[in-house]
Amino acid sequence: MVRALTHGRLPDSRERILLDDLDQTHFDEASPQAEPDGSTPAAKRVFIKTFGCQMNVYDSERMSEVLAAEGYVETDTPDDADLAILNTCHIREKAAEKVYSDLGRLRDIKSARAKGGKETLITVAGCVAQAEGEEIVRRAPAVDLVLGSQSYHRLPELLGRLRGGEAALVETAFPDEDKFQALPERATAKAVTAFLTVQEGCDKFCTFCVVPYTRGMEYSRPVASLVDEAQRLVQRGVRDITLLGQNVNGYHGEGLDGASTTLAGLIGRLAAIEGLLRIRYMTSHPRDMSDALIEAHAREGKLMPYLHLPFQSGADRVLAAMNRKHTAANYLALIARIREGRPDIALSTDIIVGFPGETDADFEATLALVREADFAHAFSFKYSPRPGTPAATMDGQVPEEVKRQRLERLQEVIDAGYRRFNGACVGKRLPVLFEKVGRHAGQLVGRSPYLQLVHAVADPALIGHVVDVEIRTAEPNSLSGVICGQS
Ligand code: SAM
Ligand code: SF4
Repeated sequence: MVRALTHGRLPDSRERILLDDLDQTHFDEASPQAEPDGSTPAAKRVFIKTFGCQMNVYDSERMSEVLAAEGYVETDTPDDADLAILNTCHIREKAAEKVYSDLGRLRDIKSARAKGGKETLITVAGCVAQAEGEEIVRRAPAVDLVLGSQSYHRLPELLGRLRGGEAALVETAFPDEDKFQALPERATAKAVTAFLTVQEGCDKFCTFCVVPYTRGMEYSRPVASLVDEAQRLVQRGVRDITLLGQNVNGYHGEGLDGASTTLAGLIGRLAAIEGLLRIRYMTSHPRDMSDALIEAHAREGKLMPYLHLPFQSGADRVLAAMNRKHTAANYLALIARIREGRPDIALSTDIIVGFPGETDADFEATLALVREADFAHAFSFKYSPRPGTPAATMDGQVPEEVKRQRLERLQEVIDAGYRRFNGACVGKRLPVLFEKVGRHAGQLVGRSPYLQLVHAVADPALIGHVVDVEIRTAEPNSLSGVICGQS
């Protein structure tokens, strides 16, 4: 079995969702081809560690599928891995630097295994690979392969070349072929939830962000390929699909009729798949929140009432310097329109504190926006200068200590929002899609429509079903309740 591991970063960030979701991500047993003499070759082992966002989790799953077809089996420790892959994140400095400390450990494992005659190939994939390319091999010569996010379908060929004696390979170009066409069919084992990347890259060039440089220009997958992938997931037991994209609501893929389709159109098409019960999407930009998508939240029953809509700062001056092209007032007006159509929608957001030039008054404006918008959830970050982005060389860089204090104050306000939102659910009946068994005997864990984790004592046969749960208690990060009846 090949399984992707992940690396949580911040206690109250999107990584928490990512870790929870990962628990129920499984991969098929690989079945190595028989040798010509009929004997079964020793399986090769792969260790994959995933850093960063859900899009990397999706990419790690797809890499695992490519490798499973080549006879690789899972290992959850690098010590016995023939192939170790770090699928990396470059969004903030800390995330990128962690990769180098992990590479130090992998280098030691590689040389210890080499003494026993065993080979270990080390691959750096994902956004650090894309951003740093050959620099990685210079800093960490034990690395065999630097693999950009558009090239991982070529893993078997590249590993073959390395085993054939070629020296370190750096594959970070954006190839002409569509990697999604070249990947094997989805082979994830039975799972209730899944990610589906529908869009990659970004053309918005917010001045703090590396994504346009690491993931390239916006690309949307055609509807036909997405419907096909979603149908296969549903056949394997998936009931809840989260559509992923760096700017997912800017989706504009080729429709079944050849014309460009919006995210609202794609959601409508996916909602017609029998057996698919819930659809979510992330991450969205306020500028791409179209009328049709707002309307879909009001009308499409399978589209869950949860929306992640980053605003970044409550100060218009800072938003302009970030190149966000929205103001605090039009963000608030936008969420008011969304709530008109779907009053119970749970809103989530991303916020950066300490962007260059951010004053105390600007920060107070951010706090005021958080209070007014009444978010159910939020991810908050200290600004991290990223090489090559315009903000990294702007005047007025904010001292670390000021950023730390602002983040602490902001997180208090955010936490009060979690408590309010979860507390308001006590006494309500929520339809919960059960995903897996919980830690305590007899308990199942599922998600409410608002993406909250819900625990209840229930029959494991209910995994994959939506059941009404009466909520009895609320913690900041989860709810508990008792089952009322199956819907
Ligand atoms: N596309 C989404 C949007 O427009 O807001 C965001 C995607 S980005 C991968 C995820 C989040 O990381 C951003 O919303 C932002 O809050 C945060 N982020 C990006 N660059 C950052 C930086 N240099 N320092 C701190 N946080 C950053
Ligand atoms: Fe980065 Fe999002 Fe801005 Fe694109 S829209 S540059 S992904 S923050």
